[in-house]
Amino acid sequence: LRRDGLSVARLPAVTRDGIACHLLANVEIQSELPGVERCGAQSIGLFRSEFIVSSDASSLPDEDTQCAAYQAVITASPDHTATIRTFDFSSDTLPGETRIVEPNPALGLHGVRWWLAHENVAKTQLRAIVRAAASGRVRILLPRVTCITELRAARELLTAVCRELGTDDRLRRRLELGAMIEMPAAVFIADRLARESDFLSIGSNDLVQYVLASDRGNERVSYLQQPLHPAVLASLNLVVRAAQETKKPLTMCGEMAAQPVCAFALLGLGIRRFSLSPAALPQLKSTLRRLSVRDAEQFMAQALTLDTAHAIEACAQTYLKP
Ligand code: PEP
Ligand code: MG
Repeated sequence: LRRDGLSVARLPAVTRDGIACHLLANVEIQSELPGVERCGAQSIGLFRSEFIVSSDASSLPDEDTQCAAYQAVITASPDHTATIRTFDFSSDTLPGETRIVEPNPALGLHGVRWWLAHENVAKTQLRAIVRAAASGRVRILLPRVTCITELRAARELLTAVCRELGTDDRLRRRLELGAMIEMPAAVFIADRLARESDFLSIGSNDLVQYVLASDRGNERVSYLQQPLHPAVLASLNLVVRAAQETKKPLTMCGEMAAQPVCAFALLGLGIRRFSLSPAALPQLKSTLRRLSVRDAEQFMAQALTLDTAHAIEACAQTYLKP
């Protein structure tokens, strides 16, 4: 008998051979918050904060408005912990009057680059997050990191904001700072980023786009959206090893985990924390409960030697066939 999404949501996220996984929710808008607990997420693993800014707004929300939005996210999270990503804009997604024109927004002043270039914006957002953190636990996540200096600059800003706010030591220790691994450069310096981060999060949506140099929204090159491409798997492997060596928590927050064959690959690489859109979580949990880590590791040992995404997928299917 097929279980419906709701009953699956109450079952543990454990593989067939007894390995526990953590399922978290990706959230963009407040109306998704009530669904987080219902879909079986343990926590909020990614809040895309740029969605609190409407695309026709002429400016960014003030500190109090932001603080209220972050508080709502933290309190809606089942374990009162939330990973809040700092604004991840590109020149073409910036709100209203702040929009700039660049020849290639995907390679321009985006993510943490834009944020650090606008210190007032960054400090206002950090103040709002630090104040909201009093109602739970917050992990601050920096998008599209390419250099360790970005992480260091963000850490300095966070320290300055805590000092200005007179944040007590207990709260300050609970504030974690982490980098998203979604640019090829971040993959190659994942060991250094891991050492200086409290946690890492892989954004496979962008990682696939940047590793394979194929615009994720361009139909002409959509055939290259291959999360099982050998270059992507090799990248993921480097990141997992960096997190393991430094004992830093690692979450996959890209949507690739929603595909059963990719979930199998991620398990085989050693990933145990998955953050996905709430609607996709019950299906991922059913998938994980059918898979065995032993099989996944055996598959991955072979997969890392194969030449194409097609061959890797065919190899996975030999394990997944009923
Ligand atoms: C990603 O790139 O995988 C990610 C989670 O971030 P976004 O989809 O918001 O770019
Ligand atoms: Mg991304």
